[in-house]
Amino acid sequence: RSAELLARQERYESNARSYPRHLPVALAEGSGSFVSDVDGNVFIDFLSGAGVLSLGHNHPALVRAVTEQLGRLTHGLDFPTPVKDAFTEAQLSMLPAPLRDRMKVHFCGPTGANAVEAAIKLCKTATGRGEIVSFQGGFHGSTHAAMAVSGLLAQKRPVAHGMPGVHFFPYSSCGRCPVGLTPDGCAVNCVTLLERSLRDPNGGIPLPAAVLMEVVQGEGGVIPAHGEFVRRVRKLTAELGIPLIVDEVQTGCGRTGSWFAFEQYGIEPDVIVASKALSGIGAPVALILYDRRLDTWAPGAHIGTFRGNQLAFAAGVEAVRIIREEDVLGNVRARGEQIRRRLAEAAGCHWVREVRGRGLLWGVELADPDTGAPAARLAAEVQAQALRRGLIVELGGRQDAVVRLLPPLNVTEEVVDTACSILDESIAAAVA
Ligand code: PMP
Repeated sequence: RSAELLARQERYESNARSYPRHLPVALAEGSGSFVSDVDGNVFIDFLSGAGVLSLGHNHPALVRAVTEQLGRLTHGLDFPTPVKDAFTEAQLSMLPAPLRDRMKVHFCGPTGANAVEAAIKLCKTATGRGEIVSFQGGFHGSTHAAMAVSGLLAQKRPVAHGMPGVHFFPYSSCGRCPVGLTPDGCAVNCVTLLERSLRDPNGGIPLPAAVLMEVVQGEGGVIPAHGEFVRRVRKLTAELGIPLIVDEVQTGCGRTGSWFAFEQYGIEPDVIVASKALSGIGAPVALILYDRRLDTWAPGAHIGTFRGNQLAFAAGVEAVRIIREEDVLGNVRARGEQIRRRLAEAAGCHWVREVRGRGLLWGVELADPDTGAPAARLAAEVQAQALRRGLIVELGGRQDAVVRLLPPLNVTEEVVDTACSILDESIAAAVA
């Protein structure tokens, strides 16, 4: 039945199949960390709807909240409503104390890309400047401007003509250092090109409207930036009056073990972009949080019909309550450590180039042991072997050679243990 539905999708949907190309299943039902297909096969789901289902599939409290809201009000544009107010309050309450009072919220169209667009427009309006600085290997979405600021090139190449002014700089990708050094003695040399370019009034680049970064690149292959890199980018942008946008679409809402990943770097950004896991249940919602001083745009400067999803707000309020009351972030850190320990065994395999992660966002980079070239075919085979053994994982990074794990944040020790065993076996089977 999966094959039949996949064939029908192929016939009718112009959208190039992305996930089902490698994961050929038609989904039927989900519960917690598990999802079943229409043929009754049950999988451990370490894709979590691309990081959306932070409390797993169909968390009962979230289902209840959505169901109750469903009979009350579903769509509210940008009118104030009690549930929107509670959601906004909940989001602000999760910010670190100094930012809580300084930041405003802007609800965007319901995707991460739309919120990235809003962040760019806000910074352009506030600074009166036009260009954006972004980083190699980053991903910010599929709309035109969000794609323009994305350093991952595959999607972008066919439509790259006429993109707005974006300057890409090396990211602190320590496993494949952009300047060929090792983290112990590098003095974060990768950031000096950006520093010199922005400080040089003649040979450099125009002062940009914003610097945009993921502090842990997600789609780029799970690459946590070097701490000093992030702090130097923050210091530089603060000195030069350039707003710093952090894209927490993937890393936000607890994924890396703190509510936002930037908190672990000891910085305070000017704009935060969030979406994916805000509702915890897949009801779409996206927003930016931004420093009040940037609030120079006119009402209506960034609008969109779907900014008032009351179902998402209702679920999001519950998600924050559960994450707080059940110390879900503690679980993210503990399960993250468990994955780190377990994947250390996988790292013994000579095709595993590097294992990287934070909290419950992990990547296993596969590369040819002789040439160091990304082992994309092997990664696809690991994914297929894992699926056969009952585990759904994602691919990412350059040429999709990184096996990515994004379990639900409330995943249990037992499920993590089983999933890691499956992954070990899958790597061994794929290499054999
Ligand atoms: N930014 C980051 C960091 C992302 O990972 C993604 C999606 N993977 C986006 C933006 C785009 O979000 P969306 O697909 O909802 O537009």
